[in-house]
Amino acid sequence: MSDASQVTEAAPQTSSTGRFDFVVIGGGSAGAVIAARLSEDASVRIALLEAGAAPPPRELMPAAVASLQLDPEVDWMYTGDPGGVGRGLADRRMMVPRGKMLGGSSGLNYMAYVRGHPGDFDAWEADGAKGWSYDEVLPYFLKSEVLSRPNPPEGVAIAESAHGLPSWPGSRPKREQRLAAWATTGEGLASSSLYDAVAFFSTGLGDAHTHDAQIGLLACGYTPDIWRYLFRVDPDEYFADPATALSPMAETVVVLPNPVQPHSEGELRLVSSDVGDAPSIDLNYLADPHDVTVMLAVMRRALQIVEAWPGGALGPLSVPPALAAVHGHASGDVPSDALLEDLARHYALTVYHETSTCRIGDVVDPELRVFGVAGLRVADASVMPTVVSGNTNAATIMIGERAAALIAEDHRLRAAGVG
Ligand SMILES: Cc1cc2nc3c(=O)[nH]c(=O)nc-3n(C[C@H](O)[C@H](O)[C@H](O)COP(=O)(O)OP(=O)(O)OC[C@H]3O[C@@H](n4cnc5c(N)ncnc54)[C@H](O)[C@@H]3O)c2cc1C
Repeated sequence: MSDASQVTEAAPQTSSTGRFDFVVIGGGSAGAVIAARLSEDASVRIALLEAGAAPPPRELMPAAVASLQLDPEVDWMYTGDPGGVGRGLADRRMMVPRGKMLGGSSGLNYMAYVRGHPGDFDAWEADGAKGWSYDEVLPYFLKSEVLSRPNPPEGVAIAESAHGLPSWPGSRPKREQRLAAWATTGEGLASSSLYDAVAFFSTGLGDAHTHDAQIGLLACGYTPDIWRYLFRVDPDEYFADPATALSPMAETVVVLPNPVQPHSEGELRLVSSDVGDAPSIDLNYLADPHDVTVMLAVMRRALQIVEAWPGGALGPLSVPPALAAVHGHASGDVPSDALLEDLARHYALTVYHETSTCRIGDVVDPELRVFGVAGLRVADASVMPTVVSGNTNAATIMIGERAAALIAEDHRLRAAGVG
């Protein structure tokens, strides 16, 4: 997904309020960090242009973030054509939320904090992204995490929103205290506002340098309205008995299996030069047969977890009646591969980690300078050469930190380095 964290530099811009040394477009996960870091040098003037407003108070309430996705004031409200997936969704389109506020998508995200696998960054470097190996980017993660201890456990999702607003009033010291306590004792933080637990593993089908699968668990069924409007799934079609399945008293566990290193590639196309027009988003999920194989392996692993649930297996897999009829599946049967693939093709949803539309090597050089355009860099999730094996916010903030350091070094600013 191409977001808007571009930085123009060197050619001062004139505006009604004067001249700026740097213009940062987009105050999201990366852009807000860049603007904040550059502003540490009081001698430079920075304009941060953000299309949205300050985040509403709900942004700080984990339980409320889902509602932000249905609010055009804070969400660009895109939908995407998932290609051969999404057959059971309204209009066969997925919601593709993107934050439209100071803080960007971190303002409506689920706050899972995951750096990615070290092998992801080493693979970037090996493919030509000089300076982006794990050892080289780790200091920028640490800088954004404000941790002095270098080794929090890999692959652990934590509850803090490192939401790109470096000095959110009142919350940062507390956040740092809790992070420091967690880094020391390993205790004290829930997984995120969405997940009650997250596990990463390798199916054995992917590249050796990283893991390729993630399973999230949440003990929450969501309301029929959330199924209908946020997921675009009609609960009356999905559940034989939606009133019982989604009753506030229902004890529901949602298990979210997802591949994290897809081979299929989507496409983002501008439909006009008007930024108000939504782009055309072709997600193209499960187009590559490799991804279908991995998806089935992750789903089977999720079913194993359900079978081995502490205290006894959870109830049977919930299969929509129409698909159960097509596949001759009765409640409690072991689902066939064909049924699992059909389930994914009807009801799989994005987990929002769109990246790599302005890849290092294709659009920008390893210092994030746009090829052929002087004084312009792109620095956000779009520059990732490939998506990291997990959630993307932490790596995007790291990119913001590193971009600020690169700019500061080029322009001899007194801020933004690592140290
Ligand atoms: C619903 C959801 C849940 C997610 N959950 C997680 C999670 O739990 N953990 C995790 O790690 N990641 C999560 N992510 C992904 C993560 O939040 C994103 O990868 C990350 O925020 C992307 O950062 P960015 O800087 O690239 O873009 P953004 O943060 O989206 O920033 C782009 C900014 O540019 C602004 N903008 C766009 N166009 C213009 C314009 N023309 N002029 C001015 N400003 C403009 C936008 O309003 C926005 O503020 C989630 C994402 C979503 C959408």
